[in-house]
Amino acid sequence: MSQKKTAVVTGAAGFLGSHLSDLLLGEGYKVIGLDNLLTGNVRNIEHLAGNPDFDFIKHDVTKFIYIPGKVDLIFHFASPASPIDYLELPIQTLKVGSLGTHNTLGLAKEKGATFLIASTSECYGDPLEHPQKETYWGNVNPVGPRGVYDEAKRFAEAMTMGYHRYHKLDTKIVRIFNTYGPRMRLEDGRVVPAFIGQALQGNDLTVFGDGSQTRSFCYVSDLLAGIYKLSQSTYHEPCNIGNPTEMTVLQFAEKILKVTGSKSKIDFRPLPVDDPKVRQPDITLARRILGWEPKVSFDEGIAQTVAYFRDFLGIHA
Ligand code: NAD
Ligand code: UDP
Repeated sequence: MSQKKTAVVTGAAGFLGSHLSDLLLGEGYKVIGLDNLLTGNVRNIEHLAGNPDFDFIKHDVTKFIYIPGKVDLIFHFASPASPIDYLELPIQTLKVGSLGTHNTLGLAKEKGATFLIASTSECYGDPLEHPQKETYWGNVNPVGPRGVYDEAKRFAEAMTMGYHRYHKLDTKIVRIFNTYGPRMRLEDGRVVPAFIGQALQGNDLTVFGDGSQTRSFCYVSDLLAGIYKLSQSTYHEPCNIGNPTEMTVLQFAEKILKVTGSKSKIDFRPLPVDDPKVRQPDITLARRILGWEPKVSFDEGIAQTVAYFRDFLGIHA
């Protein structure tokens, strides 16, 4: 009988879930990945086919989840995550944040497993406090188009704390700030794949609004190192994980043009409704309780990501 610990990862065929599965296998876990392939792709986990420690189950986690045997750790990452995905899939987004979270918490309770939910900086909405600390309650428009994602995640956090307080479940909540890297979907509409794809293919970069809104981009390996540490910690309240290096969207577009050597121009488009004007994580808490901080510089992370998309598109430098 294997002595390895077993982790369940929902959303395992997605960008973060697939990298998280790799990390957990590297840490010596057996991994069971669940995904209904709504926004993910089996391509992200095809390198794990044949790995005896990895199992994939195609399953919609808004439906009852049955996993035989012991489970030690559950990571609930399933959810449409890019604004165009959740605007196109409002009901699925609300259901995976509510019913999907309920089912995965129920599984954790049944198995006596530790539970970690992938929450988001969107819980802070269009923030009136900057940078955002975990103690900030946010400025979310519940009935705006982004409300389906923001409120689903806020509900998911509330339900997670409910299970922690009422059922004494060992739970963790990570508030993830904009994270990028290889395996993002080229056409998912998020600014990193959008600008890199446009620059590499000689199309104009679609900057929304005047590009003065800010974001702070974290490389995927840094994010997952923080999340793994949080999963091993005894901390139960929400914890921000992200890279505090902040820039405007226009500065980001200019950096992408420089790194790719592209001659593309900037095409200014209307700003989407409720698009947050600023976003930057305060990571004082993660530094203190996890001894974590990001290590990968923006230039290094972007170079890796551009290389991935060049390869994906079959474009050589
Ligand atoms: P992604 O779209 O690449 O991955 C999400 C995965 O969840 C996909 O593979 C999708 O098919 C799956 N999924 C969706 N609904 C499902 C359902 N009902 N049942 C089973 N599987 C389902 O997105 P990502 O960037 O990898 O995001 C992963 C998680 O991290 C999400 O919960 C997202 O909200 C959170 N998050 C990500 C970021 C980021 O910057 N990448 C920021 C904040 C929060
Ligand atoms: N954005 C943009 N052009 C694009 C895609 C996004 O200017 O083609 C902007 C978007 O309006 C937002 C920022 O880039 O201000 C980050 O958008 P993303 O969709 O990556 O994630 P968000 O942080 O809004 O969830």
